[in-house]
Amino acid sequence: MSEYKFIRWFEDLRKTDVPLVGGKGANLGEMTNAGIPVPPGFCVTAEAYKYFVENVKLEDGTVLQDWIMGVIAETNVDDSKQLQENTAKIRQKIIELPMLPEIAQEIEDAYKKLSARYNKDAVYVAVRSSATAEDLPEASFAGQQETYLDVYGVDDVIDKVKKCWASLWTARATFYRAKQGFDHSKVYLSAVVQKMVNSETSGVMFTANPVTNDRSEIMINAAWGLGEAVVSGSVSPDEYIVEKGTWKIKEKYIAKKEVMVVRNPETGKGTVYVKVADHLGPEWVEKQVLTEEQIIEVAKIGAKIEEHYGWPQDIEWAYDKDDGKLYIVQSRPITTLKDEVKTEEAEMTEEMNVLLKGLGASPGVGAGKVVVIFEASEIDKVKEGDVLVTTMTNPDMVPAMKRASAIVTDEGGRTCHAAIVSRELGIPAVVGTKEATKLLKDGMLVTVDGTRGVVYEGIVKSLVKKEEEEKAGGQVVVAGAPLVTATEVKVNVSMPEVAERAAATGADGVGLLRAEHMILGIGAHPIKFIREGKEEELVEKLVEGIRTVVEAFYPRRVWYRTLDAPTNEFRELPGGEEEPDERNPMLGWRGIRRGLDQPELLRAEFKAIKRLVDEGYDNIGVMLPLVSHPEQVRKAKEIALEVGLVPHKDVEWGVMIETPASALIIEDLIKEGLDFVSFGTNDLTQYTLAIDRDNERVFKLYDEKHPAVLKLIENVIKVCKKHGVETSICGQAGSDPRMVKLLVRLGIDSVSANPDAVELVRKTVAREEARLRLEAARKALRE
Ligand code: PEP
Ligand code: MG
Repeated sequence: MSEYKFIRWFEDLRKTDVPLVGGKGANLGEMTNAGIPVPPGFCVTAEAYKYFVENVKLEDGTVLQDWIMGVIAETNVDDSKQLQENTAKIRQKIIELPMLPEIAQEIEDAYKKLSARYNKDAVYVAVRSSATAEDLPEASFAGQQETYLDVYGVDDVIDKVKKCWASLWTARATFYRAKQGFDHSKVYLSAVVQKMVNSETSGVMFTANPVTNDRSEIMINAAWGLGEAVVSGSVSPDEYIVEKGTWKIKEKYIAKKEVMVVRNPETGKGTVYVKVADHLGPEWVEKQVLTEEQIIEVAKIGAKIEEHYGWPQDIEWAYDKDDGKLYIVQSRPITTLKDEVKTEEAEMTEEMNVLLKGLGASPGVGAGKVVVIFEASEIDKVKEGDVLVTTMTNPDMVPAMKRASAIVTDEGGRTCHAAIVSRELGIPAVVGTKEATKLLKDGMLVTVDGTRGVVYEGIVKSLVKKEEEEKAGGQVVVAGAPLVTATEVKVNVSMPEVAERAAATGADGVGLLRAEHMILGIGAHPIKFIREGKEEELVEKLVEGIRTVVEAFYPRRVWYRTLDAPTNEFRELPGGEEEPDERNPMLGWRGIRRGLDQPELLRAEFKAIKRLVDEGYDNIGVMLPLVSHPEQVRKAKEIALEVGLVPHKDVEWGVMIETPASALIIEDLIKEGLDFVSFGTNDLTQYTLAIDRDNERVFKLYDEKHPAVLKLIENVIKVCKKHGVETSICGQAGSDPRMVKLLVRLGIDSVSANPDAVELVRKTVAREEARLRLEAARKALRE
């Protein structure tokens, strides 16, 4: 039995102890007991939190827990402002009230014992919150993932434990519990107190090669100093490839490590970047970080952790300066499983008769019964597994698209609605076939190859089987492994419901959150909504949609793009009859020019974002579409300020580079104040080459890598670098490895790809960055 009532050492914990010490605490206990060298520490249990709130009294004698429940009972969680204020009051109270002596005593005793292991009175520790309700989805606890590094001394530890406890009552966590029907009085929180590793060297390791997916190899990245440098990608680390079992070091790449992260020598708290040459000496820049023995020691521990958990792991490790030992700081699985495709053998054919050709817009093979529809009112005809055939999809058809095994359209290019949505849903699609609705008849069996853009007669056995095998093989793929690249690899999201799946790719953030589906998805023309006095409904719908995404990615950044729906798409909606009938909607009333003409729409969007900022989301950026004049940036900012949303402070502020004008006058746009720009190459190509992106007749001339487009991009990157403005791409070309290579060479800061392409793009970026390093090293050798 433990000597303590409120404390458990890691050694005394197992993975089944989640109710007592939360997921994080239980996992640390599990690893400690499996003989994995995690830095030592203890958990202040959930019991301690419970005891605290049930025994501490306010000045008027009210028990804290009763007071909290009283405040919550009076809170309408749908009223963001009230929720924000009341939860802040609760957090403040937990932090303010003194720790009960019986708990403080145990924390002090445990902390002293931990320090004594290092022959010290006090050591640096990390204090982290660890949520206890096992069956609550992670999202419910986001915002409670409080972490305090470099905590020193008993008083500081106690203070941070209370701060962790308080994080049980962030607006976000409270909101989620309320919505999911969890009893607020039954959710507790534990705090983990763990020795900080004073890293001499540190890095990450993947127990399966994330570039080749080879599970017989371990890939180790290593750099000097604290792990932050490698994890954030700000330092190019050494890379070692080790063969499992034989422990042969198959490859070594020694990087030039110019900078490192160390504990701030002036304050003793927090971290700072320093030059390796100054801090350690010039000879350390190109020195191999780990010795051969250390490489093998790290790899062996990796294999052991993989064996313990039965699956490849992504692990953070570090060697401690204080005792020279290797520690494992974090380990998580790097696998996502895919579902299997099932098709009846009897229905299959061996023949491959081509019925139709078009553009492969979403990869993969889907097969089933054809259902032709022309309008959203017919979507109920499409049943699970059918092949949806239509002229062109629109947002009202999304429910049917989700049920379809494949999608085929007459019109559209790779960047049309059908293409974007099906890629996001992971459903194979062929667009721009010109005559699918004529040639394909209801009830026909077809096989759709979305990779090559072909529709075959019947259910083609070889194609369907190959797809099944690939999907099954996909179980071994280390999708989502956060291979660290200096150029960030982000993901595009249009539908909030795919946010979780997009986040699971391990992408570094959302480079484009399209507003169109959220707004068009309200089922009526948004302007009609506002004119009928239902602005609040629209704002709330937006808050819900955007929250789902910023929550799934938190703390990774999400760039929300304001509405960019052309008149022809708006006309489809109920109440859309008044939309002007434009001769050329692509050149017409869309993007920010429309937003500024109808500021009530822009205002609703900014209000929604402001509410999320007030809820504590500090990971949002706002991006304006189709900018061509500097005053558009200025005017949009004025509208944001009108609703209390402060650009650059509450949110990052940026523009899409989608018109040649914006690329040519980039300097003038920057003068208006920009944090970032993102290339919308779908439009930039269309406007530079004068090719309607949705017109399949001219598609063969559509090329995002046309020298004219590249010249514009190069110019913008150059100017942005000069002014410290971040650059990114979120057009379809950001999912094309050939384009990505060019952009990495041009020095782009991030690329944003479709969910299905994140893994490939990440590998492409990693390879290209490695190639650049190699070229630089070879050049240096020659000189
Ligand atoms: C683009 O134009 O490249 C872009 C990303 O925006 P959209 O495809 O929504 O026009
Ligand atoms: Mg665009």
